Amino acid sequence: MPEAKSRKRKRGKKSGSKPQIQHQKEIKSNDVTKAKHGSQSNELAAASKRPKPSSSSSFLDKMKARLAGGHFRMLNETLYTCTGGEAFNYFKEDPSLFNMYHTGYQEQMSHWPEQPVNVIIKWLKDHNRSFIVADFGCGDARLAKNVKNKVFSFDLISKDPSVIACDMSKTPLDSSTVDVAVFCLSLMGTDYPSYLNEAQRVLKPGGWLLIAEVKSRFDPITGGADPNKFVKAISELGFTSVLKDFSNKMFILFHFQKKEKRESSKSKAIEWPELKPCLYKRR
Ligand code: SAH
Repeated sequence: MPEAKSRKRKRGKKSGSKPQIQHQKEIKSNDVTKAKHGSQSNELAAASKRPKPSSSSSFLDKMKARLAGGHFRMLNETLYTCTGGEAFNYFKEDPSLFNMYHTGYQEQMSHWPEQPVNVIIKWLKDHNRSFIVADFGCGDARLAKNVKNKVFSFDLISKDPSVIACDMSKTPLDSSTVDVAVFCLSLMGTDYPSYLNEAQRVLKPGGWLLIAEVKSRFDPITGGADPNKFVKAISELGFTSVLKDFSNKMFILFHFQKKEKRESSKSKAIEWPELKPCLYKRR
């Protein structure tokens, strides 16, 4: 069974500085993934010690898959340890990395018994088709492609004309114009509260905030965040908690509705729990 685990986030990164791709080489052996992130030479050195494969083409395919897996895990950790603005600049410099990330992401997700995005698609199909939706961190825009609603899809890179490339803490949407804001496994940046602030801004009063996140990020026993603290913070942002669903083995679902009025407008007073990076196992 595939498993995604959280790991303690390295602290002390300055906001605004470039994401450090080199930090991957500093990962200690007790890292839950036991991955040698980003080091092609390490991967190749390890490969040379293995028994000779029966067919050179299958050997090469395996090596390519291993390298691709290593790249994915490196990019994944980068996204979880920098701000949205840093991630945006990082992918802008080399958009091909985004494809690499998503190939690895889809590979990992193919091992999950249920895709959280499909659960959200079903929710939208069961609700008002005229709801206007904002998909924050849309990936390949699967959500927009599978519902009849008007969907604004946002991600760091746009591979499809329907996707708006931006750091989702700053979308081009007007305030109070959206009925549903979706975050499906996309609360990745260290500044994730700024994404939720943005959702609060663009949602109409009574609008829905749907969040699906990797379960291990909300497991206090293994260093994850306390889901109650997360719900409390979002409530203080101006939402009512409607649903907390822990029934899926891999992800947790939260539903909120935007309050007509926010009691306190001081978002800086909100105590946001730290969300640990989700690191994927080497396969
Ligand atoms: N929601 C999609 C993809 C999840 S992967 C699905 O469920 O299939 C998470 C996505 O969030 C990635 O594509 C990543 O690029 C995007 N993302 C992370 N931080 C972001 C940010 N600050 N702004 C825009 N997109 C972001």
